Amino acid sequence: MRKYNFYAGPSTLPVDVLEEIKTDMVDYKGMGMSLIETSHRSKEYDEIHNNAVQLVKELLNLPDNYKVLFLGGGATLQFTMIPSNLMIESKPAYYTLTGAWAKKAYADAGKLGLAKAAYDGKANNYTELPSELDIDKNASYLHITSNETIGGLEWQKFPDTKDVPLVADMSSDIMSRPVPAEKFGLIYAGAQKNLGPAGTTLVIIRDDLLERSKNKTLTAYLDYSIHADKNSLYNTPPVFSIYATMLVLKRLKALGGLKAVEKVNAEKASLIYDVIDSSNGFYKCPVQQENRSKMNIVFTMQNEELEKEFVKKAEEKGMVGLKGHRSVGGCRASVYNSMPMEGAACLANFMKEFALTK
Ligand SMILES: *Cc1c(COP(=O)(O)O)cnc(C)c1O
Repeated sequence: MRKYNFYAGPSTLPVDVLEEIKTDMVDYKGMGMSLIETSHRSKEYDEIHNNAVQLVKELLNLPDNYKVLFLGGGATLQFTMIPSNLMIESKPAYYTLTGAWAKKAYADAGKLGLAKAAYDGKANNYTELPSELDIDKNASYLHITSNETIGGLEWQKFPDTKDVPLVADMSSDIMSRPVPAEKFGLIYAGAQKNLGPAGTTLVIIRDDLLERSKNKTLTAYLDYSIHADKNSLYNTPPVFSIYATMLVLKRLKALGGLKAVEKVNAEKASLIYDVIDSSNGFYKCPVQQENRSKMNIVFTMQNEELEKEFVKKAEEKGMVGLKGHRSVGGCRASVYNSMPMEGAACLANFMKEFALTK
C-alpha cells in the first residue's frame, strides 16, 4: 500500500508518473533499452529534454528572453554559481535572511564576493518575512528564498527591485502557484521537492544576465552562458531526473497548470492550518499568519514527548515524514503539488483525533 508521504525532500511523486516510468523502464518505447542507458544525444532523449524545457516555459509563461537550464549539483551548487556569474565588482549582492536556506546561500556568496543582508529575521527567530525592503540601486542582485522549507515561510508578494535583478531560490514552491516570471532575473529550484526525483536543478535565467557570465573567468561547469549555449548538454545531464520531471510537468499541464494547482494547494494547506488554529493552542504554528507556507506546514505541541507520540501514531496510520527538521524540532507536513487532497484530509482528521485523546 502507498503511504501518505510528508517528507520535505525527496518527496512524494504522482503515482501515475511512477507507473509510467515503471512501464517504460526496461524497454523505453520499443528502443530495446531503457532511457537511462541511451546516449544523452540520442533522438529519444533529445525529445524528452526539449519537452521538459518547453513545459517549463509554458507553465511559467516565460517571456522569450529567458533560458531554461537543467543542471546538476542541486540547489546548493547554485549558491556558488549565482555569485560567481552575477556579482559585479563594487556592487554588493543582497540577501534576505529568512531562514536556514537563505543563510546558506548568503554564506557561500560571502566567500566569493561582497554579500550584504537586506533583511535578517534573527530577531523574530525567522518566523516573519520583511514587509518592505530598502533596495540599494547599486546592487548586483537581490536574492530571496521564496519558500523556506525548514521554517515554513513563503513570500506571497515579491519585492519590486526595479533595475536590480531579483534572484529566487524556489526549490520548495516552484510550480505550486503562478508567479510573475518577468519580475525575476533568475529562478532556481532543486527538482526533488516539487518537480521530480533528486538529480537535476532547474535554472531559469534572463538573457541579459548571461552577458555577466561572459565577462568572467569561470571554469566551464560554473558558467551559465556555456550551459545556455549548449541547451544544458555541455556535459551529460542528469537524464533520469529530467525525464521524470518532464512527466510530472506534463501531468501538471494536463491538470490545468499553475492556477489550478494553486487552488488545490490552498485547500490542502487550509485543511491543516484550520486544525492548528482551532485546536485551542494544542497545535501551534510559529510562523506569522500572512507568511505561512502552503508547501511546508510547521507546528509544535506542548512538549517533545507529545510530538514523538504524534509522529509515531501517524506512521502507524500510513502517514510518514512528519518529524520537523532536526535543526528546529517540532513537526512539519510537506504538502507539495503531488500530495493528494486525501492525504492532507487524512492528516487533518488524524490531528483532530489526536488532540481529542489528550
Ligand atoms: C532543499 C533545498 C535546498 C537544497 O537543495 P539541494 O538540491 O539538496 O542542494 C536549497 N534551498 C531550498 C529552499 C531547499 O528547500
